[in-house]
Amino acid sequence: MQRNLLQLFYLISAVLFVLGLRGLSHPKTARRGMFLAELGMLLAIVGTLLHHEIVDYRWIVAGLVLGTAIGAPLAIWIPMTAVPQRTALSHSFGALAAALVGFSEYARHGAQLGGVRVAVIGVEVMLGSLTFTGSLMAAGKLQGLIRGYPITYRGQNVSNLALLAGMAGLTVVLALSPATGAAFYAMVGLALVFGVLLILPIGAADMPVVIALLNSYGGLTDAAMGFMLDNKIQIITGSLDGSSGFILSVLMCRAMNRPITNVLFGAFGKVQELPAGQETKKPIHQTTVEEAAEILGTARSVVFVPGYGMAVSQAQHRVRELADMLKGKGAAVRYGIHAVAGRMPGHMNVLLAEANVPYDELHDMDQINSYFSETDVVVVVGANDVVNPAAKRTPGSPIYGMPILEVEKARVVIVCKRSLNPGFAGIDNELYYGDNVLMLFGDAKDSMVKLATALKQ
Ligand code: NAP
Repeated sequence: MQRNLLQLFYLISAVLFVLGLRGLSHPKTARRGMFLAELGMLLAIVGTLLHHEIVDYRWIVAGLVLGTAIGAPLAIWIPMTAVPQRTALSHSFGALAAALVGFSEYARHGAQLGGVRVAVIGVEVMLGSLTFTGSLMAAGKLQGLIRGYPITYRGQNVSNLALLAGMAGLTVVLALSPATGAAFYAMVGLALVFGVLLILPIGAADMPVVIALLNSYGGLTDAAMGFMLDNKIQIITGSLDGSSGFILSVLMCRAMNRPITNVLFGAFGKVQELPAGQETKKPIHQTTVEEAAEILGTARSVVFVPGYGMAVSQAQHRVRELADMLKGKGAAVRYGIHAVAGRMPGHMNVLLAEANVPYDELHDMDQINSYFSETDVVVVVGANDVVNPAAKRTPGSPIYGMPILEVEKARVVIVCKRSLNPGFAGIDNELYYGDNVLMLFGDAKDSMVKLATALKQ
């Protein structure tokens, strides 16, 4: 009876996970999708607590209390702008937990499990360990605790491949001779080192892909754990997580026009420093709130291009208010959304949805790029890398090849940011020196409020 109930819980939660993922594929249904996935997870946990092998709940309660004490503050207090590093930390905790389960299985039962099972445990612990250290590295890079740029050295790919071959070899040894504890522990050590080395050469604008990839590795770890523990819901959730993370990585690579192998092995995003004396200081056109408001007041078509700076200053509501005023004056207003704007997939969509911007005003890069040439004014709100023409014009630039929002094609571009400081990729932006580009320096929210006030007057 208990067993059947458990299977029923698992079946319902599997269905809820699939429906949840489906919901997450569109902004309109994303909230419902998230809710369904959460409900699925709750059912999976409650169902697991009915497991007939559990005879003592004390450790489970201790784990729940500890996990809640860490997870709840992480979710409640970490700002939206730090979500990528928080996500990386969650991946690392999840992967560590999965690796520890495999570790304890091997420590408890060892060779009695047989070659095949020990090899599965080996794969699971290997993936868990490398995802653990890799995700910690990614979180450190995104938080600025470790240098964010790619770190490369001679023979990097060869040594990484040798490490990978070493881990695969040790897993084969374990399959043939499951009692060889030394091979198991050496493999865990190599995997921990491999996770660090895997993330070292990746940086700059490629970090979003890495986060999605680590998500996928975490999912594969869970799926392997499901095989190890013969737990079907874990196999299902792990596979869903692994495959959706991988699909997301591929989509993001496509948005940045990079083969995934290039992200993983190419040390893309490495800043090419100009030889001393070659840096050029070009003139920019600085504008005032009054001048910018006057230009906006006569515009018939306006496109807002939000970026990370909008998230930092939480300007989304003020952007929408300004857009409403412009619409009131008869202008057509759209929003141009780049796939990697901000610091997490869908970052801009989430913020603009929070500010009640209608979905049909949001246009992705392919839709909006052809519209810029007939646009009167583009207002860039805290975006930088995603509008940097170096991506098209400067071979050797860390973002070269990444499709961008071609805002410079509009009649006038007003850029709202605080200074000429670079964005995430750490490079100068050629856009700012264009003849039709006006720089409105200041905090994005502040500028939006001042523009709206000036427009009213
Ligand atoms: P960005 O290139 O990082 O530039 C953001 C700009 O916002 C900065 O140049 C900064 O300039 C400005 N800013 C910061 N605070 C501001 C404030 N309070 N008011 C006004 N401006 C402010 O941003 P992006 O164009 O959105 O590009 C995103 C980058 O992050 C890409 O390189 C992408 O690859 C990377 N990334 C994306 C994700 C993802 O999943 N979306 C994840 C990780 C990394 P000032 O300091 O001069 O104001």
